[in-house]
Amino acid sequence: MEEKPRPNAAPKKEAARPPADFETRLLAWYDRYRRDLPWRGTQDPYAVWVSEVMLQQTQVATVLRYFSSWMRRFPSVRALARAREADVLHAWQGLGYYSRARRLHAGARMVVERHAGELPRQHSALLALPGIGAYSAGAIASIAFGERAPLVDGNVIRVLARRFGLRGDPNKLPLKRALWQLAGELVPAKRPGDFNQALMELGATVCTPRAPRCDECPLRAACIARRDGLVEQLPELPARAKATRVRVAAALLRDGEHVHVVRLAPEAPRWAGLWTFPYAEVRTEETPVAAARRAALEAMGADVRVGARVAKVTHTITRFRIELELYEAAPAPRVRSGAKRRPNVARVRARELETLAMPAPHRKLARMLFEER
Ligand code: SF4
Repeated sequence: MEEKPRPNAAPKKEAARPPADFETRLLAWYDRYRRDLPWRGTQDPYAVWVSEVMLQQTQVATVLRYFSSWMRRFPSVRALARAREADVLHAWQGLGYYSRARRLHAGARMVVERHAGELPRQHSALLALPGIGAYSAGAIASIAFGERAPLVDGNVIRVLARRFGLRGDPNKLPLKRALWQLAGELVPAKRPGDFNQALMELGATVCTPRAPRCDECPLRAACIARRDGLVEQLPELPARAKATRVRVAAALLRDGEHVHVVRLAPEAPRWAGLWTFPYAEVRTEETPVAAARRAALEAMGADVRVGARVAKVTHTITRFRIELELYEAAPAPRVRSGAKRRPNVARVRARELETLAMPAPHRKLARMLFEER
């Protein structure tokens, strides 16, 4: 099950004229080895949309824990459009990158308003929906509607760059455009959705970033990177910048059985609309204790005495490594009344924290707190 070898073919020439058996070999491999995933086997455009949004920047193993419960909770575009944002964010928590959930929600509302609750088939109409870019539009059009539409994601980039020996940064022109063009030429009229999923599956399970399993690859005989010893070099992605350390201190204001949490403003640069313990970034020449005190003051108008550190978690998101320390804080009597006056502050029982949409590091802290009890 291999492509015919083309030992002396130049990468550019190959890229310009995709081999006819690429599709046959890839699909035969996919039919035999694909993973059984809950979003496969459905052509419901909404389910395809949800799965593709979840899979962006998130591993399959994580999405597996969320997809089915999401579909039970919001089984249709209309159900999602009707939902409150707080419920949508709560269902999304743990998947991270909450802007995806907000855009999915906004997109569902637009589909109901403008398209009577049915996702449009036209590529241009799909692209007009919030959160749907070229990748998602290609996935929905090919998988749900059987359109001959290409898609390019990180897995596809890796497979194509290696198989065709494509040099350059795939996130920049001209290679970026060349990859979309090549993907467009490769995608067949018959089974375009399976073909696109097969390319992504190959990149996720065989043509992996490190230690690809070339001996099991259906494209191995014609693979330029393998032939030229470039597998480790391709694709030529820019070196990742080292994650910036961000030190954050939060205040744990207990009040009997209750704790105080704050809801971040919709325009907050990080974790907008989610619930957190009052927190602040530790400034230069500021101690974490001082930052925790400032956090309580800024978020709740509460002047507190900060005590011992009760927990610490680290969390990496995009290029930031967040070190979050939680400090016990004793509220002065006026804290409670100050908290009540602010609509973004809630006083909840520790076990009720589970019902709030919280970003991952604060959720971890909340679970530590809950388990403590
Ligand atoms: S032969 Fe190896 S490098 Fe080439 S496409 Fe297959 S897994 Fe990737």
